[in-house]
Amino acid sequence: MPGIKHLLIISIAINAGLVLKFLHDGDEWAGRSVPKGVLPEAKPANGLQTLSRATDMQDQYINLDHGDPTMYETYWKQMGDKTTLVLSGWQSISYFSDTKNICWFLEPGFANAVTRLHNLVGNAQTGNYHIVVGTGSTQLFQAALYALCPSNAPQPMSIVSAAPFYSSYPLIIDCLKSGLYKWKGDASKFNKDEPYIELVTSPNNPDGSIRQAVVNGSGGILVHDLAYYWPQYTPISFQADHDIMLFTLSKCTGHAGIRIGWALVKDKEVAKKMTKFIEISSIGVSKDSQLRAAKILDVIADTYEHTQKFDKATPFFHYGYNEMAKRWRQLRSAVSKGQTFSLPDFPVEKCNFSGQTFGTQPAFAWLKCEKAVDDCASFLRKHKILTRSGTHFGSSEKYVRISLISHQEEYGEFIQRLSLISCVYAT
Ligand code: PMP
Repeated sequence: MPGIKHLLIISIAINAGLVLKFLHDGDEWAGRSVPKGVLPEAKPANGLQTLSRATDMQDQYINLDHGDPTMYETYWKQMGDKTTLVLSGWQSISYFSDTKNICWFLEPGFANAVTRLHNLVGNAQTGNYHIVVGTGSTQLFQAALYALCPSNAPQPMSIVSAAPFYSSYPLIIDCLKSGLYKWKGDASKFNKDEPYIELVTSPNNPDGSIRQAVVNGSGGILVHDLAYYWPQYTPISFQADHDIMLFTLSKCTGHAGIRIGWALVKDKEVAKKMTKFIEISSIGVSKDSQLRAAKILDVIADTYEHTQKFDKATPFFHYGYNEMAKRWRQLRSAVSKGQTFSLPDFPVEKCNFSGQTFGTQPAFAWLKCEKAVDDCASFLRKHKILTRSGTHFGSSEKYVRISLISHQEEYGEFIQRLSLISCVYAT
């Protein structure tokens, strides 16, 4: 009686999903969890009631295609007006911020906040580096390519990154059909004896792997995209000291909409050229955004260094770590209900920042559809789950990338649906 068997399984799965939804997960960073009632409850986003949102959702598509970091709204709402910044009409009039700095549009307060946070977390050296601010790290990435490619080379410079690579790299590189550079795809297949730039993303988007350069050539220049090298996602096992390191507020604090990123650049001439690119493309970077970013970064550092100001509130990275740990547990549990899907495993390491030993818990899941399912994105779309197919990342359609940093309600609904699919297809 396959019909009854399926009904029974679906009912078990729904109940399991509900249990999952209300399960309070342990495993938090020691001594840093929020005592109940200490922080005000976050208001549901977009004026929706959490419950009605959850029930309404059952018929809706869940969009986990983009890496929109709305997960962090809850934390920042709990922080109330701690990050409020009032800007008057007379402020941010001039194009200039600090004419003595190579990056003349860099707000000194923002530069200080960046340095302070890196020193606190220990994820990157700042001592001998120039800071270049950008409109997101997306602009800095382009600035770096502009700075590193000679303007008089006979051929456009080859740009490569090991597959699966961040899907925006080829889009950005090919967009203006530049004469300076050309996208050459998977770095592990690049064996030409010519100059190249290798983009090293670590932890990697989409698959969360910890990476190093893979090309063996002699004429290579490396750009390290460290958007996810923060302790909510991965153990901070060393202080990075690469030549060019890109960071973004979007994935560090969750403020993607402020559009701020920064580059730590060793070489003065490269920093100058990157600054030039931003001067040409947008005459600097919003001062208001830099001031807001500085405030937020300083509050994060304050939650560790001036804890008395925060009435036992969870420090930021501890909150992020606990949330990511919970979401990964829920995801692995849903996947383990059947053999339809699989997930990568990550090596466990000690985090010098938290003292905790754990495996990377990336902002994205790189989910593989096993067995007979070939086109994983289409398969999930039929179940109203929108993901990004592996084909966008130079990989196969057996894989999809799924954002783990969306709103809690959306994520909960996703987990329920995935559990159900795992159970049903297990038979
Ligand atoms: N690099 C990587 C690896 C990313 O995942 C992202 C955001 N998805 C970016 C860069 C761009 O970030 P930003 O919002 O600062 O432009």
